[in-house]
Amino acid sequence: MNIERVLTFSKTLLEKVTEDGDFAVDATAGNGHDTLFLANLVGEKGHIYSFDIQQSAIEETYNRLNQAKKIENVTLVHDGHHHFHQHLPLELKGQLSSAIFNLGYLPGGDKKIVTTPDTTIEAVKGLLQWLKKGGIIVLVVYHGHEEGAVERDALMQYVATLDQKNARVLKYEFLNQKNNPPFIIAIEKSTP
Ligand code: SAM
Repeated sequence: MNIERVLTFSKTLLEKVTEDGDFAVDATAGNGHDTLFLANLVGEKGHIYSFDIQQSAIEETYNRLNQAKKIENVTLVHDGHHHFHQHLPLELKGQLSSAIFNLGYLPGGDKKIVTTPDTTIEAVKGLLQWLKKGGIIVLVVYHGHEEGAVERDALMQYVATLDQKNARVLKYEFLNQKNNPPFIIAIEKSTP
């Protein structure tokens, strides 16, 4: 296959902008796959801040990082991503290279615990202030469940309001796949 799958493309975007020694955020730690991916990109000199509201997700992510010997350069935060600024040093404002959101519920977890439009949008708005120029926020939008469809609509409405002078907004979506496959919204900050 030549056109990248959605999850592969989310990693390609992160890889483009996240380099050795950089700082980045995983807004939805879940089982820790994206946190580990980012931790590998930033190496020992960089740092990742990873958030989840579920203790079980934080533990799962801790175990994955620990096994991979990557726990040293990750801060795991048991809190909502919209509170991210309470957990990052102020000197990182304007310095983040990337942030990833994998929306929806934790695979293999409680499907009633899902990301919500208000807090997701609050976090995205805040993170845009903390990104450096050229930094990217990647959102993988799962809209096959009822709350996911509501979150999709709110997000699409919000990102359409972003001024093209300040941000470039991309939607990456397969148009002929069944059962509401996930799609990507990527926001690249164009100003410092
Ligand atoms: N990226 C993860 C991975 O690599 O396994 C999967 C993430 S999963 C689809 C979504 C996660 O978002 C769940 O673990 C859920 O607990 C978490 N979540 C829901 N609302 C949140 C919030 N306001 N802040 C942070 N995490 C949240």
